Amino acid sequence: MTESLINLSKYTSKNDARVFANKVINISGYLGVCNGHILIIDETTKDKHYGFLDFHSERKQQVQDYKLEDQLNSIRENLDSFVWDDMPPINDEHYRDCHDCNDRGLVPIREDGCSECKGSGEVELENDHNSYEIECKGCNGDGNAFAGGFEPCNKCAGTKKHLSYVPVLTVNTKWALSGEYVQSLGRLPNVKLSWQEQYEFFAFKFTGGFGIIMPMRT
Ligand SMILES: [Zn+2]
Ligand SMILES: [Zn+2]
Repeated sequence: MTESLINLSKYTSKNDARVFANKVINISGYLGVCNGHILIIDETTKDKHYGFLDFHSERKQQVQDYKLEDQLNSIRENLDSFVWDDMPPINDEHYRDCHDCNDRGLVPIREDGCSECKGSGEVELENDHNSYEIECKGCNGDGNAFAGGFEPCNKCAGTKKHLSYVPVLTVNTKWALSGEYVQSLGRLPNVKLSWQEQYEFFAFKFTGGFGIIMPMRT
């Protein structure tokens, strides 16, 4: 049995409303991650998807997914004919200061559901004439109460700098590649990148798998 080469779970989303986006899932018989921004297929896991959420049954209502499956098959069949490049380099100028943590690298740990506002982030005030809503002071409008203590910021992983929506490779007047994916996927073994004009996404491949990166607007 081949050991999977990559740790897929580090590519899942953390708090996406779509359950499958936060999990390693079965995509057409392979384990993978599909979070709306990137899709990764680990080809070393063929038919080892028992017990994992099935992406296609999860989203079978949506025509979009059948298109996705066609695109995946088309990519798999044509991997050898694509023109592949190295991932673009990231320079110091690409990094942006992180505002999610006010450049501290840490954010307060929160627990689910502030009791004061029942998780809505707002409290309703009423008198005989009016009712109005104000930001909840218990959670500063976040909806979740402070649990005490701090944890590394999700956006910058505690580094105080991030590459989220920072264009590092512009492919035409409309589309570019965001630096966060260069950072997160750039260490995959022998990773290569290929812009696919007909699909308007980036394909990437690495030893043991391949995937898609959605571009950002320029
Ligand atoms: Zn609250
Ligand atoms: Zn941060």
